[in-house]
Amino acid sequence: MFIEQIETPVRYVKGIGPKTEPKLAKLAIYTAGDLICHYPYRYEDRTKKIPLSQFKTQKVHTIAQIVSRAWVGFGKTRSPKFGITDGSVRTAYYMAFNQSYLYDKLPEGAVISITGTFIYNHEYHAIQCVKLDELTVLSSLGKLTDYADTLPYNSRVVPIYSLTGGIKQKDMQKYLLNALNQYCKGIENKTPREVLQKRELLSMQEALRAIHAPKTIEEAMLAQKSVKYEELFAFQKEILERGAARKSTSDQAEKITAAKKENPLADFSPTQKLLLTKLPFTLTEDQMRAIAEINTDIDMGALPSGSFIMARLLQGDVGSGKTLVAFFAAARIADSGGQIALLAPTEILAKQHADKAARFFDGSTIRLAYLTGNLKADGRRQLLKALGEGAVDIAIGTHALFSNDVAYKNLRLAVIDEQHRFGVLQRNAILQKNNPAPHLLMMSATPIPRTLAITVFGDLDISVIKTMPAGRRAILTFRQMMSHAGTVYDKVKQELQKGHQAYFVYPRIKGEEGDEEITPLGETEGAKDFAGRADESFDEGAKLKSAEEMYEYLKTAAFAEYSCALIHSKIPEDEQRGILADFQSGKISVLVATSVIEVGIDNPNATCMVIEHAERFGLAALHQIRGRVGRSDLQSYCFLICGENLSQTAKERITALKNTNDGFVIAEEDLRLRGPGELAGIQQSGYFTLGLADPLRDAELLEMAHSDAQEYLAAQRRSRF
Ligand code: ADP
Ligand code: MG
Repeated sequence: MFIEQIETPVRYVKGIGPKTEPKLAKLAIYTAGDLICHYPYRYEDRTKKIPLSQFKTQKVHTIAQIVSRAWVGFGKTRSPKFGITDGSVRTAYYMAFNQSYLYDKLPEGAVISITGTFIYNHEYHAIQCVKLDELTVLSSLGKLTDYADTLPYNSRVVPIYSLTGGIKQKDMQKYLLNALNQYCKGIENKTPREVLQKRELLSMQEALRAIHAPKTIEEAMLAQKSVKYEELFAFQKEILERGAARKSTSDQAEKITAAKKENPLADFSPTQKLLLTKLPFTLTEDQMRAIAEINTDIDMGALPSGSFIMARLLQGDVGSGKTLVAFFAAARIADSGGQIALLAPTEILAKQHADKAARFFDGSTIRLAYLTGNLKADGRRQLLKALGEGAVDIAIGTHALFSNDVAYKNLRLAVIDEQHRFGVLQRNAILQKNNPAPHLLMMSATPIPRTLAITVFGDLDISVIKTMPAGRRAILTFRQMMSHAGTVYDKVKQELQKGHQAYFVYPRIKGEEGDEEITPLGETEGAKDFAGRADESFDEGAKLKSAEEMYEYLKTAAFAEYSCALIHSKIPEDEQRGILADFQSGKISVLVATSVIEVGIDNPNATCMVIEHAERFGLAALHQIRGRVGRSDLQSYCFLICGENLSQTAKERITALKNTNDGFVIAEEDLRLRGPGELAGIQQSGYFTLGLADPLRDAELLEMAHSDAQEYLAAQRRSRF
């Protein structure tokens, strides 16, 4: 059995009761398998003695002797105070508050094993224990020198886990050991034994034991590598197998494509044709070609011989009209009786797609549903029933679309908008909602280089929209120093006077440290860029402008005669939607925001984007945010307002953005600027995470897994003939 197949509820693990179960659920741990996959995020190495003299930099882990004992306080409040030494310092002190029983247990001369955190107390001019992890009496009277070769009690590598309220580190460590004892035995490897041997990796059973209970740090590292490799190998094998299935149908594809090239329009399905007549504009050439390519894929999937499944990445810069292409794809699938799930990373974006779809499909036979996380139980039940019965053609929503309780009658197409916001596992979850897997259309304005795309997504096809809709003007981007922000405000005022609208974007909601805005679905690439990797040149003392403070300022001073509004992720979602609707209708002229507006907002009348502390945002995020303007034939402007003393990379980011509007150039530049070294500093890039492995950070391991999987599949094919 593979680890993810261990579906026994976590409450069957020894020590976990009905009270603990909901707490673990907060960490997305529902099954014993989930628990075993809750890997430590770091280790404490307590395999060696750490003498008291090292207390300033490390946790002390030593064998010491009691050299004095005394009572502090009086009567019921009195506590014992022990003087101890391990020979490396004169005396350190341990105050045993409320533990008077210890007084008799620890006489002068007793030898103890002690683990804990010590500090220098300036008031008493003494080294003092502030947190005791472990204290064990080894002998009530002994000679310290006799213990020179003895390791302190519990000398081992201690795994440290991420926790949630109500669960202590020690509990978590215990749960994991119990889970391993109960369930580790049956776990199998996806990586073949020969490959493990060749790469000198541990089997899953060994690796899981070693990752949770390593004997040495080296063993823990090897265990981590082995688990990551297992994930990457399985992932690459699946991708290569899918690729092989797709290639076998490529001859038929050529015939179909030839026919479509002759006359793509003639080939449109009835609803596609209807949509075309309703559009207030003509499709761009690239949109047309992307639709034809998708039509080909869909038709191949419908061939009787066809096991073909579309895996297509639709790359097109912000504002290039990808959504429309997705609607055409959905129309064709619906016409053939299949269902479509359109997945967006945020509620706001999902709602916007749902509204657009409602207008777009009005007058057709297509039945739409908008599945939001906020649905009341009753409404949700009805909607799920409709989905399960096939009474809905297109379901639009966030990750709620692939919750466990959502079942489709015949899901034939999954469209994933802003695909870079979703992890590999989430993507797979939606593909598993149907058998055979639905066609997959991923859309992104944040392209990744093709070489990387192939290792991460496998043999996927790419459609590119390069041309912008007719009449669009390139956004003019300017850079300004923070001290001259006023000149930018004046320029924005001129635009507002023409009846246009403006965005102001800030890195934080409030003024305080640690209140960086992150989008509701977790870190985005951009959010991570400024939250996780504050610019090295940033003057820690300087104050960051925040959305809340600047909203107060802008609406009362700079833009007093215009209506202003504030939006960020801590504002309830229905309020957010109300604010956006007012901005859309023109009731609000100035929208002060955080990076929540990074995706999806589509207001063609907004012509100004002001990004303050632009150096705090990642390049891809800046490009996305800028893409909120320049959505009509009006001239649009982007102002990047920066602090003083920018670092070299910050300067390069801003310059890159100033010099080009081309998302493809920006993506390459982004990768170059971040480089593998810098990526390593980020806890989890989240971009493509896949359990423990992150194909971006573990690129070397990924390549290894890729070539091993290739070799393995080739050998398998040979042995079949
Ligand atoms: P993105 O590629 O960033 O997702 P959208 O699909 O949101 O872009 O499209 C941006 C805007 O351009 C929308 O308002 C859309 O209606 C409009 N649009 C799409 N295609 C065309 C076209 N061919 N001509 C004019 N406007 C278009
Ligand atoms: Mg879009």
